[in-house]
Amino acid sequence: MKTTLHLLYGGKSAEHKVSLQTALAVTKALNKDKFNVFPLFITEEGQWVRGKQLTGEVESVAQLQLTDKGTSIAPLALTEVNEQTDDKPVIFPLLHGPNGEDGTVQGMLELLNLPYVGNGVLASSAGMDKVIMKQLFAQAGLPQVGYVHFLRSEWEKNDELAYKKVEEELGYPVFVKPANLGSSVGINKAKNREELASAFKEAFDFDRKIIVEQGLENAREIEIGVLGNDEPQCSVLGEIVPKKEFYDYKAKYEDGNTAMIIPAEVDEQTYESVKEMAIKAFKAIDASGLVRADFFLTRDGELYINEVNTMPGFTPYSMFPLLWQHTGVAYPELIERLVQLAKDRHDEKQ
Ligand code: ATP
Ligand code: MG
Ligand code: MG
Ligand code: MG
Repeated sequence: MKTTLHLLYGGKSAEHKVSLQTALAVTKALNKDKFNVFPLFITEEGQWVRGKQLTGEVESVAQLQLTDKGTSIAPLALTEVNEQTDDKPVIFPLLHGPNGEDGTVQGMLELLNLPYVGNGVLASSAGMDKVIMKQLFAQAGLPQVGYVHFLRSEWEKNDELAYKKVEEELGYPVFVKPANLGSSVGINKAKNREELASAFKEAFDFDRKIIVEQGLENAREIEIGVLGNDEPQCSVLGEIVPKKEFYDYKAKYEDGNTAMIIPAEVDEQTYESVKEMAIKAFKAIDASGLVRADFFLTRDGELYINEVNTMPGFTPYSMFPLLWQHTGVAYPELIERLVQLAKDRHDEKQ
């Protein structure tokens, strides 16, 4: 029997465009003998549109076009979808960032009692908030760089105090990030007070809460894919080599000149440590389905966890699918595994 798969993409998020690219790639890769695919587009304003077809170029976000205007639906009309078919449809939220990767959509799908790919409510929201995530990682004993965090209201009341705290507790350089985002949107490196002030301002444009982290100089960036529910498995390691100061939005999606090295060249002990830490991180946020865990490896061999992404970049050229391809799980099979994991988790709850 064919599985009905609804691809939820776009989204009211600064990572909207990235999601379009992913949805096209997944549509193209799906085996039409096994899946009936329905695209569900969420506009940048948050309106839900049931479209007929997705077309465009997967390679470049800039070239993407949405050809089909589709029909507007209320999000809760997804339950109608449910009645159209005997087999329970599976929802694949190909959404990154707030309003998609953060547990909000997942909560709605729980209420509708529909199986969906990827992380549940708790893991999604804990993984989206870099401060909460770091607190859970600390509890699990995972090594991390020093950090402080601020609310916009605190900063507005006394910005000098905030900057002093950063300088006293961390020192330069630091990375300033919106607490709830991804794709490096709103992230800046600051090497002095002036840069710090402008980095705060930009990060607060995206979130009411920001995190400021001790900046590592010259560290290698190592990533790993984790796949599964109660017994997660790890992929081989990948390394990102940004040709710029850091792996920013442009380097990720526009310039295309960041090198990805898979498998990453690390010694056996480092590989084992990364795997062990990635599983700990997965469990620390109670993840299911998938995560991509990102690490820093300093030149003296120290390993720090940076973050996990509960819905990592998912085009065939993205790190997570490439890691699994090198581990022996090709892109179409990866999608099928994720759909199966979604069904398993759903069945277990019934
Ligand atoms: P994504 O979800 O797309 O992986 P993100 O928006 O969650 O990205 P981070 O992964 O936290 O952002 O940071 C983006 C990039 O900034 C990192 O890949 C790295 O290049 C650089 N970076 C972030 N934090 C630090 C740090 N503490 N020290 C050195 N470099 C950092
Ligand atoms: Mg992230
Ligand atoms: Mg992300
Ligand atoms: Mg990252």
